[in-house]
Parts: sequence; C-alpha cells; structure tokens
Amino acid sequence: MSRILIVEDELSIAELEKDYLELSGFKVEIANNGTEGLSRALSEDFDLLILDVMLPGVDGFEICRQVRETKDIPIIMVSAKKDDIDKIRGLGLGADDYVTKPFSPGELMARVKAHLARYDRLTSEAVPKNDILEIRGITIDKTSRRVTVNGVEKPFTVKEFDLLTFLAEHPNHVYTKDELFEQIWGMESMGDVATVTVHIKKIREKIEADTSNPQYIETIWGVGYRFKL
Ligand code: CA
Repeated sequence: MSRILIVEDELSIAELEKDYLELSGFKVEIANNGTEGLSRALSEDFDLLILDVMLPGVDGFEICRQVRETKDIPIIMVSAKKDDIDKIRGLGLGADDYVTKPFSPGELMARVKAHLARYDRLTSEAVPKNDILEIRGITIDKTSRRVTVNGVEKPFTVKEFDLLTFLAEHPNHVYTKDELFEQIWGMESMGDVATVTVHIKKIREKIEADTSNPQYIETIWGVGYRFKL
C-alpha cells in the first residue's frame, strides 16, 4: 500500500485530501507545519508527497528542494497563488506536478495515481530481474541457479545445471556427446564422453515424468541429444 505524506497547515484541506486518498486505498499522514513536514519527509519512507507552499516553519519550496537532494519520490505542490506556480516551474525545484487551490479532490486524486504509477514503473524497472527460462513446466532460474519442475524445486549439481541450461537454450539443435562434453566440461578436462550420458540420465530422473519416454531431452540414436521445443 502506498504511503503518502500531506504537508498542509490548513486542517480542513488536509483532512479533505486525506479522506479522498484513503478512499482510494492509500495510507495517508498529515504534517501541519513545515518543520515537521521536512523532517518526516526526509527520515521516513513515503511514496509520494503533497506539499503546500505557504507553511509555518519551513516553506514548501525549501522542503521540495531538500527532499529532492536525497529522494526521487513524486512531489505534488499545492498553492493558492498563481505566482507560486511560475516559481515552482522557474526554480527547477524538482517538483513533479502542481495544483492551484481551490482544486477538486478528483483532480488531485488523478494526479496522485498517475505519478505513483509512473514511479512504480521506474522503481520496478530498476530492480534487476532474474534471468529465467521456462519450458513446459520446467523453470530454470539462471540467476539463482535453481530448477523447478511443475513448481517443485529439484537439486541440481553444477554440471547437471550447466548441461540442462545449455540444451534448453538451444532447443531443436542436435548435439553430439563430444560437443556437449567440450561445451560443459571444456577441452582441457579429464574425463570422457560417457560422463555426458551419465549426466543426461540424472537430469532426466529429475525432470521427466517417464524417463523411458523423455519429453524434454531426446536421444537421437547414433548422433547425440536434442532438447525438444
Ligand atoms: Ca498554507
């Protein structure tokens, strides 16, 4: 749930804004002077600020400027004076939007929702996503190196994981055992291609419902293996 701070000294306006925002499912708190507003905006985790310009203590311009130095949350400024809007624009304070009093609660609500949606998109894009392959019930998470089969996690050794991932990333391509050995174990490795057969067998035991009739890794007799698309 998004948490919103309203910094507003006129209690009737603050309460009106709060009521509307709460009806839309937001968690809303009010600071009724600039000093409290600034300190809470800086020290607490809010998702959006609604900031009146004329405030006792620190004014809205200064709060906006200081918050913007450390936080990129949306800031909507509110003012009764047309001149203030020009100032907000001109000063480059980093406010995302502004509304003039009197405003309709619906107008403010629409802006709050639009800015929160945009901010959500930005922050969710910033979180790195795991690199995941999904093939008919099998999920291979390359980032966390975990494999689940129909939702159940299966333990994979390093080489089993590498071999399954390699095949799954190249579906419909037939590889010889020599090619797979070279790819996964490397040319310099000791061992022989029988290792590939053993690993394929172990992988099938983990991912196939019926190992005698494999649905994922097919044996191409006399050639090698292929991951079915
Ligand atoms: Ca005011």
